[in-house]
Amino acid sequence: MISIKGLKKRFDDLEVLKGMDVKVKKGEVIVLIGPSGSGKTTFLRCLNALETPNEGSVSIGDMTVDFSEKVSTAELLKFRRRTGMVFQTYNLFPHMTALENVMEGPVVVQGKKKADVRANAIRLLEKVGLGDKIDYYPFQLSGGQQQRVGIARALAIEPQVMLFDEPTSALDPELVGEVLRVMKDLAEEGMTMVVVTHEMRFAKEAADKVIFMDGGYILEEGTPQEVFENPKHDRTRQFLNLIR
Ligand code: ATP
Repeated sequence: MISIKGLKKRFDDLEVLKGMDVKVKKGEVIVLIGPSGSGKTTFLRCLNALETPNEGSVSIGDMTVDFSEKVSTAELLKFRRRTGMVFQTYNLFPHMTALENVMEGPVVVQGKKKADVRANAIRLLEKVGLGDKIDYYPFQLSGGQQQRVGIARALAIEPQVMLFDEPTSALDPELVGEVLRVMKDLAEEGMTMVVVTHEMRFAKEAADKVIFMDGGYILEEGTPQEVFENPKHDRTRQFLNLIR
């Protein structure tokens, strides 16, 4: 489903991703962990074409983009639509209701008619448990509810892969569970997901594979049991001791 080969990303002189190779099968949930600054967010942003990698290729489904060559904007936009991104700080449009936020992608990005996307947007809000809040504005919703709108919005473009960038780290602790519940439901339905999170319980319960990144490289990868209970590298062990 996803095949990433030799992915490199630099910001001026700073090489943040130093050659990442990752394969994700359809329906797999990958959890990416690693210290602050190790390149996790940059990696996700490269998969969503919010950053353009300097080298390497990414295949999602039947589309491959080789970033060693010049990539047209049209191609990047087509590539972006294959993934739905959920951000740490929700990034909802404040002047739009929950329903309008969810309808925005299909209407503006995919050029669909409002009348045609409304029913599906309502269905998605119901799916994340917000069927009774469709006309609420973000400021009228809790952080957990806003993030669930964020998930419904990302799903609205019918992506092949969902990307989550620390989706619960801005939330009060009592609101984390409701967001993780929605993510677990999605995983159980067979959605392919790449998740950056420090929620080890989610990783243990939902991940097929855990990847530990450090300094722009993958240092270690395996099942949650392999990585959490029997880490091969000292760096992984040190990191896990810090967050557990
Ligand atoms: P965190 O857990 O703190 O979010 P991370 O593992 O997600 O960290 P990134 O956010 O990907 O790490 O950042 C990796 C490095 O790249 C950092 O040193 C960061 O300062 C740098 N960086 C990220 N985005 C940019 C940018 N747009 N311009 C310049 N440097 C950047």
